[in-house]
Amino acid sequence: MCGIVGYTGHRQAAPILLDSLSRLEYRGYDSAGLAVRNGTALAEVVKATGKLYHLADKTDQGRALTGNCGIGHTRWATHGDPSVVNAHPHVSGNCSGSGSGAVESDVVGVHNGIIENYTELKEKLLRHGYVFYSDTDTEVAVKLVDYYYKKYKIGPVDAITRCMVRIRGSYALALMFKDYPDEIFAARKDSPMIIGIQDQESYLASDVPAILKYTRQVYYIDNLQVARVSPGKVLFYDLNGDEVSMPLTEITWDAEAAEKGGFEHFMLKEIHEQPQAVRDTLNSLVKDGRIDLSETGLTDEIIQGIEQIDIVACGSAWHVGMAAQYVIEDLAGIPVRVELASEFRYRNIPMDRKTMVIVISQSGETADSLAALRVAKERGTMTLAIVNVIGSTIAREADHVLYTLAGPEIAVATTKAYSAQLAAADVLAIHLARIREKITQEREDEMLAELALLPDKMARILEEKERLQWFSSKMANTHDIFFIGRGLDYAISLEGSLKMKEISYIHSEAYAAGELKHGTISLIETGTLVIGVLTQKELYEKTVSNMMECKSRGAYLMGITTNGNFSVEDSVNFTVYIPKTDEHFMASLAVIPLQLLGYYTSVKGAFRSSWAAARSLLKTVHWTVFRARRTP
Ligand code: GLU
Repeated sequence: MCGIVGYTGHRQAAPILLDSLSRLEYRGYDSAGLAVRNGTALAEVVKATGKLYHLADKTDQGRALTGNCGIGHTRWATHGDPSVVNAHPHVSGNCSGSGSGAVESDVVGVHNGIIENYTELKEKLLRHGYVFYSDTDTEVAVKLVDYYYKKYKIGPVDAITRCMVRIRGSYALALMFKDYPDEIFAARKDSPMIIGIQDQESYLASDVPAILKYTRQVYYIDNLQVARVSPGKVLFYDLNGDEVSMPLTEITWDAEAAEKGGFEHFMLKEIHEQPQAVRDTLNSLVKDGRIDLSETGLTDEIIQGIEQIDIVACGSAWHVGMAAQYVIEDLAGIPVRVELASEFRYRNIPMDRKTMVIVISQSGETADSLAALRVAKERGTMTLAIVNVIGSTIAREADHVLYTLAGPEIAVATTKAYSAQLAAADVLAIHLARIREKITQEREDEMLAELALLPDKMARILEEKERLQWFSSKMANTHDIFFIGRGLDYAISLEGSLKMKEISYIHSEAYAAGELKHGTISLIETGTLVIGVLTQKELYEKTVSNMMECKSRGAYLMGITTNGNFSVEDSVNFTVYIPKTDEHFMASLAVIPLQLLGYYTSVKGAFRSSWAAARSLLKTVHWTVFRARRTP
């Protein structure tokens, strides 16, 4: 998920690798490392935690590493804490991985992504005498390549393809083999990787900005392909080890567009990364069709003893808590309270060891959530953290941790971390329900099958974004927006409203639809936009009638409902349809049109305000000139 770079040519590799990694800094990372080779000499590996300048200092800006061929990495930990030992590059040998100096190893590699079946592969390698020094899935992949390389006495390409057939997950790999000086071998599946060529030099990167300064001539490696990279030359192979030819493309993006992967803003890029974030999170919690929370340490006994759940969070994570409340109560029958972390810490809520406090936070560092976690622990409760950053303070201090795998989130308005948290909460709810025998195995299987389909359904919604773009441009003048819904639809409304106000600066409120009539409805006037979330069958008619009350006061109505529910068009002015899924998981789909609405409204609003600013500037200039002319 983070950054890979590589270089082979006639110049010193390390300064180029450091420079290329610095172009990927915007993506966020927790540690970095380099491996550089000088001809046939062993690769020298240097790693450091924290910002890239630590690695640059450790290598005297790259000058301490001599050699014309090398690979580099910035890591966003998914397996194992952000530490020097876990930082990449990883090696096939049995060294400590503490990372400074030449390493006796046949294979050295860096990896982006997740190897889902790494535990099973690690066991196999342990049986064959391999010794592991890190907690990463990456070390397993590197050692697996080494295993095939030696067992079958085959070349690097065949060893890598054999490995690719065995590993499940998403990955981009860059590897160097001791017996192949000046060459880098790369492979990928569902994780990007490009190779740039310029004269007698070759560059490798997981993202375009890393190499734009050096070349614009690139090859995009296809999914499940292997590339053999030597100075100024690349050969491609398919999974059978047969050579395939790939087209050379010219990159026309500027550096800024390249950072955003061609999207106009990071927020839009991250909205599009949601299917992958949800897929990765689900795959880490559901293995071979069964929920596996063993890494969290939540045993069946613990789960059976829970009498009360308190979910504590801030902002969007609190909205995830609101959605999870409905799902957990409905499926598992455990009473759930959802508390704002900033309030929870000052309340004296009676709780004991039978209460489980769940803290949800993307960064794992949210100050109020951390303080709330500490309060909960002082009161003797059991704590579970749902966080995105491995090794963060909340993750370290909670009794149990459930990681989301959304990758680094750059936009201030969260999108993919929210969706990954929601997916994690849904899996947790199903697991609680099954262990407490509130649902049958069959029902669990059905729900897991539905969850597995969510990423594709999310992608389908994203394909129809132009309609929302059009609607947003029509509504960008609106001053007030109300998001209404009941039950789970209310939880979705809360997130839709927050997305709208935090980025478009338009006043918006989320209301439980049935609550609107107790006063707030007096604010609805001609042109007020009322967005009804209508994904729950039982509550549908009630929310529609609340929307009609708004219409009679002049509101413009938009509805979000499931495909095929066309009767809604009799009542509302504009309808957005989303694919059907189990009603418990509707938030994952319904939130996407709302994120897009917030995003496009803000883009339109920014355009309008800059146009308004330009007009007022022109007016000022006009009057200044006019006055100057008239002044004697
Ligand atoms: N899963 C690997 C790790 O935890 C790679 C993470 C990344 O993409 O940076 O080390």
